[in-house]
Amino acid sequence: MTKILIDPTALSKRVNQLAAEIVKDYPNGPPVFVGVLNGAVEFMMRLLGEFPAEFAASIQYDFVNASSYDRNNSRREVAIGPHGSIDITACDVIVVDGIVDTGLTINRLLTVLKGKEPRSLAVCALLDKESRRVHQVEMRYVGFKIADHFVVGFGMDYNQKFRCLPHVATLDPTLKGIEK
Ligand code: 5GP
Ligand code: MG
Repeated sequence: MTKILIDPTALSKRVNQLAAEIVKDYPNGPPVFVGVLNGAVEFMMRLLGEFPAEFAASIQYDFVNASSYDRNNSRREVAIGPHGSIDITACDVIVVDGIVDTGLTINRLLTVLKGKEPRSLAVCALLDKESRRVHQVEMRYVGFKIADHFVVGFGMDYNQKFRCLPHVATLDPTLKGIEK
């Protein structure tokens, strides 16, 4: 039903590398991290856990709900929920997402966040399905580029399940027995 694509060791190693890159890129202090619910939760908390204490101490983080849905079976639209209480105006911000596919969701979210006039805005995604991109997004930090598979685990779901797998797995899309 599922097949391991990225194992826990590879995930830990890459998350650690991304944290090190971020520390290097923000010498004047950490950005505000904004995680996209729910898929980015595991990745974001693992990432934030990798920072050295001095950097970690002044980190602020928030979550925002962004979900896409089909409208009239044709056009996908994105609903952006209210984000938390942190005012990102004039702050450096990193948006953390689990996976960027067509880019629609993150594209819309970035437009909303830009309206708050942050000092800088960067994207950090664990997985990038680059070949599926329709909406251009500048991806500053990418964990892994993957082919066009439907993946679950490490925070990512299928019908709200599989989020707690310790690895990223491909899911056989023809299996419908798992929906309940
Ligand atoms: P978009 O096409 O807008 O870039 O992707 C939107 C959202 O679809 C992602 O944030 C994620 O929630 C979901 N998504 C896209 N591809 C996958 C996938 O392979 N697995 C899972 N679990 N969700 C995906
Ligand atoms: Mg989702």
